[in-house]
Amino acid sequence: MTKRYDLIVVGAGPAGLTAAKAARECGLEVALLERKTDITNLHRCCGQSLVSMNEYYFGDIFHFNNEGKRMCFPVNRFSLKYDGPSSNIYSWHFYSPDGHIVKLGDAKELKKLGDNGRIAIIHDKEVFFRCLLKEVEKIGVEVFSGTNVTDVTKTGENVIVEGGGKNFEATYVIAADGTNSLIAEKMGFNKARDFFCKISSKSYYIRNAKIPELEVALSCPDYVKEIPVFMVVFPWINEDEINAIFLTLDPYLNLDEVTDYFMNKHPIYSEWFKGSEETRMFTSVESIYSPIIEPYQDNVLIAGDAGGTQEVENTGAMISGWRAGNAVATSVIESKVGLKAEGISHYLKWWKETYIDKYSHEDYVKNFTFSYILSGDDLNYLFSLIKEPLAPCFNPYEALNLISQAIQQAAPTIQQERPDIIPRLAKMAAPLKEIITSIPKS
Ligand SMILES: Cc1cc2nc3c(=O)[nH]c(=O)nc-3n(C[C@H](O)[C@H](O)[C@H](O)COP(=O)(O)OP(=O)(O)OC[C@H]3O[C@@H](n4cnc5c(N)ncnc54)[C@H](O)[C@@H]3O)c2cc1C
Repeated sequence: MTKRYDLIVVGAGPAGLTAAKAARECGLEVALLERKTDITNLHRCCGQSLVSMNEYYFGDIFHFNNEGKRMCFPVNRFSLKYDGPSSNIYSWHFYSPDGHIVKLGDAKELKKLGDNGRIAIIHDKEVFFRCLLKEVEKIGVEVFSGTNVTDVTKTGENVIVEGGGKNFEATYVIAADGTNSLIAEKMGFNKARDFFCKISSKSYYIRNAKIPELEVALSCPDYVKEIPVFMVVFPWINEDEINAIFLTLDPYLNLDEVTDYFMNKHPIYSEWFKGSEETRMFTSVESIYSPIIEPYQDNVLIAGDAGGTQEVENTGAMISGWRAGNAVATSVIESKVGLKAEGISHYLKWWKETYIDKYSHEDYVKNFTFSYILSGDDLNYLFSLIKEPLAPCFNPYEALNLISQAIQQAAPTIQQERPDIIPRLAKMAAPLKEIITSIPKS
């Protein structure tokens, strides 16, 4: 006879592992299904940073307890073991194509504050997966790695999950299957969402690159064949290594061409990479949708990137996984003791108030679409106007707003020197759908 679980979690990323832990700690029978054969392996691009440490993000003030080796979420009252290496990020720098830098945070000043001045940390996600997997296995979550889930259906009181040639049965399912969620698609959640485009990435870990400042993250927009492209550079936990990610929204542009441009041809960045050595390579393709407003249907609850716009980031995924696991546990326990099951509704309220109402998904996507409106020449000029470091920030929903505000303050100068840019700046406030029309969606 098929075992009936209280909860099946699909996906063992940060959201799924955290959800499984939370539910099992409340005594639920939990199965965790993951298509990777080795859950601890990183299988796609990630900057491996943990945002955001100098401001609330997803309703919590994330903190890393260096001595206790715990990732701490004090508002949500949980912490997760992480005994791997870490390094601090003190500032986020945006480069214009000709090398003018807008700094979110003054790294030199913030570094004087030590850990209290950091805006994020870099962690080794594979070590994090190892810590969390060990813990969920120890407390009795049944882990099915190498299980690719192909369908989820509601039958009477149960949800049936098909994967790895088997059927699994549970009262609830948490879909934590990431940004291109099969479950969100199969269950019809995507019908109510706007699909904007896809973002393709390729990342290289690179040894001995000559990056001007090590404890900062760098975003470098530019153009290849007049198509907007990006290089984002994260420090890595070894001082002699960095993680350089190359991105495009254009599905027809070859990312090798983008990488070659930044690393070998660009007048500034090619100098950084002379004599460097690539160590590891990852790729990813993500669908960019508007978020799922009501992430629950037919006993299936959505957590992490599966319900977000492109990414809720690692910390957002852990928080929503924790909340989702506890929400299901609450509902199961309520039902068992004869109370009305209301746990899920707490999660829906939290998701709406903390994510949907708080953040503009359009702001997030505009991190990658502003250079579809502004030319390289525009960026060179505008960035040259911002000479002092802006407020420290590593929150992807806020960064562009801070830069926009600084540009607005320079409006009289722009009006005088470059009035031609004003209509394009005004277009930055247009709805995303209007901005994104020129990006192929294939
Ligand atoms: C280029 C890039 C850079 C990034 N940089 C950062 C960064 O610096 N900092 C940060 O915080 N975030 C970063 N992110 C985002 C971060 O990786 C995600 O937000 C985070 O991993 C989301 O966690 P998740 O658990 O929701 O989903 P995921 O980490 O995607 O985990 C989903 C899991 O589900 C599994 N799965 C999927 N489909 C199935 C299926 N059908 N059956 C079974 N299993 C399935 C997958 O194998 C995966 O293990 C980056 C992402 C990209 C693409």
